[in-house]
Amino acid sequence: MPDTLPSDLAPGLVAPPPEAFDVLRRVFGFRSFRPTQDGIVGRLVAGHDAALVMPTGGGKSLCYQIPALVRPGTALVVSPLIALMQDQVEALRQLGVAAAFLNSTLGEAEQRRILAKLHAGELDLLYVAPERLLSESFLDRLSSISWSLLAVDEAHCISQWGHDFRPEYRDLGRIRERLPGVPCLAVTATADAPTQRDILRQLDLPDEALFVTGFDRPNIRYRVDLSDEPKNQLLAFLDDHAGEAGIVYCLSRDKTEKTAAMLVERGIPALPYHAGLPAKTRADHQQRFLRDEGVVMVATIAFGMGIDKPNVRFVAHLDVPKSPEAYYQETGRAGRDGEPAEAWMLYSLAAVVQQRRMMDKDGGSANVWVERRKLDAMVGYCETAQCRRRVLLGYFGQDAPEACGNCDTCLNPVATWDATREAQMLFSAVVRTGQRFGAAHLIAVVRGEATDKVKKFGHDRLPTFGVGAGRPEQDWRSVVRQLTAAGFLEVDVEGYGALRLTDAATPILKGDETVLLRVDPHPPKRGRAKRVVKADIVPTSDGDRRFALLRDVRLRLAKEQGVPPYVIFSDKTLREMAETAPTTREALLTVTGVGEAKLDRYGDVFLEALRAA
Ligand code: ADP
Ligand code: ZN
Repeated sequence: MPDTLPSDLAPGLVAPPPEAFDVLRRVFGFRSFRPTQDGIVGRLVAGHDAALVMPTGGGKSLCYQIPALVRPGTALVVSPLIALMQDQVEALRQLGVAAAFLNSTLGEAEQRRILAKLHAGELDLLYVAPERLLSESFLDRLSSISWSLLAVDEAHCISQWGHDFRPEYRDLGRIRERLPGVPCLAVTATADAPTQRDILRQLDLPDEALFVTGFDRPNIRYRVDLSDEPKNQLLAFLDDHAGEAGIVYCLSRDKTEKTAAMLVERGIPALPYHAGLPAKTRADHQQRFLRDEGVVMVATIAFGMGIDKPNVRFVAHLDVPKSPEAYYQETGRAGRDGEPAEAWMLYSLAAVVQQRRMMDKDGGSANVWVERRKLDAMVGYCETAQCRRRVLLGYFGQDAPEACGNCDTCLNPVATWDATREAQMLFSAVVRTGQRFGAAHLIAVVRGEATDKVKKFGHDRLPTFGVGAGRPEQDWRSVVRQLTAAGFLEVDVEGYGALRLTDAATPILKGDETVLLRVDPHPPKRGRAKRVVKADIVPTSDGDRRFALLRDVRLRLAKEQGVPPYVIFSDKTLREMAETAPTTREALLTVTGVGEAKLDRYGDVFLEALRAA
């Protein structure tokens, strides 16, 4: 039991009092605090302010929810996303906590009822949308309520430097002025240094109140595959995730619709989502993703903001996103509950080149160089032979161990080979053909294939003709791709994909530097497209079988109440129940995520289901 306080609290963090541990166990059913969570809870309970930058799934909500229950008064929580607010309040109510929200979705009568409760001191937490908070009528009320704390969720919205600036957030400083002595906690998952400074300044928080934990999401496994047969590769991937909920991102609207239709044809419950769909369809699809089990959302980047579903088990990218920032944010939607999740991407350099062409075409914008650099960083991530987590975190300025053990390059170390001679052959072919030809032609030249085009230009008479005949074409394509990705060759986007040398190629041509390339893995070809993918979890052990059963019980209870299944119990809780198969209420209470209120509400139903299983 965690009553012994951790001794390694960072400076400024405060050990929580015993009441906080009690609430953690009794109400939330958790055994211990996560790192940093404890110290922030301690600070808030003691009446100090804090700004916390912690990755998604780190457990930021608990940092204000527990102090809200320990301190007297009502906690005022500002949250910009209405859907998220409703689910959070529902989750708290399920725990037996007196929580409510005020936003534009409520009718007059309902609002009055909630305000009456607020004034009567009956609420532990009140979630408010910023525009509502700043209305004159609400501002007038502020001073007549006893507030336990002020929590600002998605605090990066306060800053113009943040990626999601909300003008109403600018006025939160005024709220602070009207709540003297009320401790404030600002939380966000994404804030770079300028955004962090802005949060502190606008909310009048001292520098010492800032706590930044790492960005790492250790439960997410990163994997990148070369795009070869994208449709079959996607089906094989989904086969590994049968019955699980996830998101498949595509760049175009058209592709989301086609992909979703293809999956549905194969019995997978998939839905499309993009900004071109009618608002009602979008809302409906989003709702089904949140409320049903195992829905695969095939979406453009329009899908994501405010998706707080904790048990998204995978995020797949069929196209390479425009920047590591976007990639990290999108993959970050997987595994918010801390359970194993997978981020998988299909990569094709040709598609990236196409993307860059579009970028340059819209271009002329001052940003085009920045955008190019970000896309290049994505290519670097795809082509790396190093630990992917290390490359990603390194991009965000965070140091990470050599190997994480939970990405494809760590799990299946990539073999490399010395391709200096091949690079020289190819570069020489590029130069001798006048830097005017694309990959296919250059490969034909080095491999000594006398195609019509080769003969027409007399390239069969070049000294480079046939020097690389010993290597299969596929190897050469890999060489061209990797040398382009590494910046030795550049694609002339106006010249129909002609390859040119960059300055970086010179030392290689001169023999001053060597080039190591990765050996492309050739994934075993899995079933053809006509194979039907099973849409359900196929239980392979007693635990799996019980899990599937408990999940059905959860879904039924959720439907009866019109709430998302995960507010009843998380996947982690169901997993633990399925593995340990408790038979008594006491034993059930020891399962993570089973607190007193949930034991009363659902204990018997789940015990009954376990007995029958
Ligand atoms: P964030 O807001 O940082 O994205 P949440 O507050 O939603 O994260 O928490 C993520 C998940 O982790 C939730 O399912 C939550 O119930 C769980 N969680 C948070 N703190 C703990 C803890 N101390 N022990 C076990 N689970 C926790
Ligand atoms: Zn790794």
